[in-house]
Amino acid sequence: MDSKEFREAAISSIDQIVKYYDTIEERKVVSDVEPGYLRKLLPDHAPEDGEAWSDIQKDVEDKIVPGLTHWQSPNFLAWFPSSSSFPAMLGEMYSTAFTGAAFNWICSPAVTELETIVMDWLAKAFALPDCYMSTGPTHGGGVIHGTASEAIATVLVAARDKYLREATKGLTGEEQEDAMAERRGKLVALGSAATHSATKKAAMIAGVRFRTISVHAKDGYRLTGESLRATIQALWAKGLEPFFLTATLGTTDTCSIDDFDSITEVLSEPAPAGHGEIWVHVDAAYAGVALVCPEYQHLTKQLSKFHSFNTNLHKWLLTNFDCSCLWVRDRAWLIEALSVNLAILQNSYTSSGLVTDYRDWQIPFGRRFRSLKVWFVIRSYGIKGLQAHIRKHVGLGEKFAELMKTRSDLFEIVTGPRFALTVFKLKGHDSAAITIDEQNALTKKYYDTVIADGKIFLSSTVVGSAFALRHCPRHSLCRGGARQEALRNPGGK
Ligand code: PLP
Repeated sequence: MDSKEFREAAISSIDQIVKYYDTIEERKVVSDVEPGYLRKLLPDHAPEDGEAWSDIQKDVEDKIVPGLTHWQSPNFLAWFPSSSSFPAMLGEMYSTAFTGAAFNWICSPAVTELETIVMDWLAKAFALPDCYMSTGPTHGGGVIHGTASEAIATVLVAARDKYLREATKGLTGEEQEDAMAERRGKLVALGSAATHSATKKAAMIAGVRFRTISVHAKDGYRLTGESLRATIQALWAKGLEPFFLTATLGTTDTCSIDDFDSITEVLSEPAPAGHGEIWVHVDAAYAGVALVCPEYQHLTKQLSKFHSFNTNLHKWLLTNFDCSCLWVRDRAWLIEALSVNLAILQNSYTSSGLVTDYRDWQIPFGRRFRSLKVWFVIRSYGIKGLQAHIRKHVGLGEKFAELMKTRSDLFEIVTGPRFALTVFKLKGHDSAAITIDEQNALTKKYYDTVIADGKIFLSSTVVGSAFALRHCPRHSLCRGGARQEALRNPGGK
């Protein structure tokens, strides 16, 4: 494909993509292909000769689209959104056009510098404490990772190293290495029963224990300082060393917010001699972007006492997958744990100490130019447009919950609406007499019917012992100028 052919192919592909978005609502939201459908449609060997773009493009519509579940459809109400917007798609296009591994500043200074700038813009827009800014008093800063799981695994490794370094202070060389190896076997990472499995996976990767702390309906399924204290003390009594906690702002099941005030209080209590500080990471993968609206910014009050924070722009802030923003209070914690040095990496800019080499803030070596799409999104919508986008969803969630309440003979809200998410179950005719198993069976039957019908797609969960359904609304900005206008001008004036 030469540049002329590329231009024609790109225009035709964009036309196809625009048509896909314009007709998305008419498509069945969940694909109904059978497992293995694609192998039957494609040859069993790669083509010997190159093929025409028109043939390849035709196969996208005929063979790939039927196997897609339409995440951007307004009928897709499951899990959390996977955001999409045209400015972000353009960002991806440029990013891939300028492709490079960008592990060092010198690999492409713009890749590093734009990332630092947009991460500072976002930190300000989310009202994160100054310590998370690259220019802040504690030498913190932000970095863009692919996913929240990657961000959590990275900070857990940094926390493990920080804990072990501090625990073996004064030792050097092999003596320190041996002491660290011995302590490593005692480390425990913590999360609540509602913490996303990303923390458990991070603990598995880092080779440390993981313990969950129960959450209860009476506390709104939030982790409280009281339960945290009980768990930490029990672990200490067994000779184990809790070193890391994931606290969540917007849990996956119900969007609850852990009780940051009481967690802070408990973690400021003196630990028995020999036990180090517990690193607190705030996982705000979905709900964190709501901090762009001042009405949520009180939630950042305790963040300066914690160590790191992540939120995924690719979930709810109009930025196509992947884009998980991670901030740390002190970037040295990441660099000390993850810095590598190879002869091929040496360059005068790194040696000068004046530049950021983001490879030391992450697990992979090379990195994508993700900040470009973030820059395009922020500039295209402005902070006001982003606020309107979040409020639109929150409004739709509230509307849904109101509608549920008008049929309180049928439905019972379990939690919410919180950050647009409502979790609900079926009531049964005589809700006083119905057992939890019968109620679960009833909700499950209703769920199976909705899924088989295929008009909308919901996801399910288990809250306490109740099988429940999650409704998380979507509002696409990729369809029609009217929607765009509604967002730019939410009051409709
Ligand atoms: N944390 C929370 C609270 C989530 O809800 C999710 C996914 O929904 C994740 C982490 C994992 O996100 P990712 O796919 O970016 O790793």
